[in-house]
Amino acid sequence: MLHFTERACPVCARSDRSKLFAEARFDPARLDGMSFSSRKVPEGMHHRLLECGRCDVLYASPVPVTDDLTGAYEEAEYDSAREAQHAATTYARVLSGIAPNLPSRRRAVDIGAGDGAFMERLIEAGFTDVIGFEPSAAPIAFAPAGVRERIRPRVFDGSELDAGSVSLISCLQTIEHVPDPLGLCVNAATLLEPGGALLIVCHNRRAVSARLMRRSSPIYDIEHLQLFSPAGIRNLLERSGFERVEVRTLVNRYPLGYWLRLAPAPSRMKTGVETVLDRTHLNDVLLSFPAGNQVAVGYARA
Ligand SMILES: [Zn+2]
Repeated sequence: MLHFTERACPVCARSDRSKLFAEARFDPARLDGMSFSSRKVPEGMHHRLLECGRCDVLYASPVPVTDDLTGAYEEAEYDSAREAQHAATTYARVLSGIAPNLPSRRRAVDIGAGDGAFMERLIEAGFTDVIGFEPSAAPIAFAPAGVRERIRPRVFDGSELDAGSVSLISCLQTIEHVPDPLGLCVNAATLLEPGGALLIVCHNRRAVSARLMRRSSPIYDIEHLQLFSPAGIRNLLERSGFERVEVRTLVNRYPLGYWLRLAPAPSRMKTGVETVLDRTHLNDVLLSFPAGNQVAVGYARA
């Protein structure tokens, strides 16, 4: 059972300019082992959502207390290793544009590492010491040998590493899930060496896809405690002390079958189409599409 707590805007820590965006749509009886897993089939449930007029951030309040959330992630199931590989390929392309700007490639930290798919790409890109943090045991079990032992099976809190010892910190499809995104970014800024970068990939709540799908968009989900616009994610990074902040659209490359899983259609219809796609191997055709995600990069003060 989840216990809930009220909170203010997770970026400016105030609620004086917050207004109601949507009441909660949440039935605890429908929670299951997949509810806190990555890339799940959307359940159409979300917390009560407020919009901060100061930060342009949409945030959930009340939210489950941190211990309950950690417990939910620890026990979450996992079934998306193949999709994680495709996502890692997309992120590796982003990485190739950032890595040349870094002062060194001595250590990289991936927050919300999942099955370590992106950590493999960090190793390939030449980072000497690659460390992941992941609270869910299920995806870690899928990690390849050589990566698994580099994943620390817990929530990242910045306390285990020396200040200034990290060249790159990545936080991919994770910042919406953490109870304190500002705390995470401030910790990241402390750990980074001067000129080191924090790379965030997250949903853009003002993307065309989110606007077209309105409340049926999969971004409105109980796993998401906050959602950022391009201005919102910029505010988060700048408030955490990052400079040279860049925000842009991410073009995802996924198999057709995965796009279908995300589509807002009845599940019986989706199962039928999926069976046909499986038989014809069209399921594996890769499609590039701006799926409403954004990339944000900020550099630690030199
Ligand atoms: Zn705010």
